[in-house]
Amino acid sequence: MEIKVVKRILEANEQHAEVVRQRLREAGVVSLNLISAPGSGKTSLIEATIRALRGKVRLGVIEGDPDTTRDAERIARLDVPVVQINTEGGCHLEATMVLRALEEMALDGLQLLFIENVGNLVCPVVFDLGETYRVAVVSAAEGHDKPAKYPALFRTAHVTVLNKVDLIPYLDFDEAQFTADVRRLNPQMPILRVSCRTGEGISEWVQWLEAKLTSPHPV
Ligand code: MG
Ligand code: ZN
Repeated sequence: MEIKVVKRILEANEQHAEVVRQRLREAGVVSLNLISAPGSGKTSLIEATIRALRGKVRLGVIEGDPDTTRDAERIARLDVPVVQINTEGGCHLEATMVLRALEEMALDGLQLLFIENVGNLVCPVVFDLGETYRVAVVSAAEGHDKPAKYPALFRTAHVTVLNKVDLIPYLDFDEAQFTADVRRLNPQMPILRVSCRTGEGISEWVQWLEAKLTSPHPV
């Protein structure tokens, strides 16, 4: 693609992201853009969060996928409002897609909105969705080299969730290296160790979230 074209796309996206941001701010909704590789556990993290916050926080989910409504069906089973965006093969979400999804979702009374991006560590990073916070999700099974190889995500995220920590004893995952690489890119960012399978660390993640719901937005 020509550089000029890319620049135009990103400028248009920035304008749409501003509209999303304003709409969510007016509705008092805190939103999270979950970015990860496929299979790292974004949907599982959302499911675990819904279970932990049931009756306490009213949340909604926007599911981004190249195809299928499988993730949205998982969320709908938990009785949470969910809108599916199918990108028809597209490898990232753009703010205009989120705007369209917001038309399908009642924001009144909503406090927290998850936006599950398409599984991809590269281009979702350059498309602002108007989110309040950006969450990098990595699973230990992917290897400790992801922060070093995909630095832009870790530089721009507000929190890193390291999932599948229950598997670490069976993997050649060098957690010290992983942590050092994340720290080098983003010294203040919390790194939360979780296992959506065993529930380890979910309460710390939920605490981080609840603190964000009561503190002023960064944007
Ligand atoms: Mg998913
Ligand atoms: Zn893409």
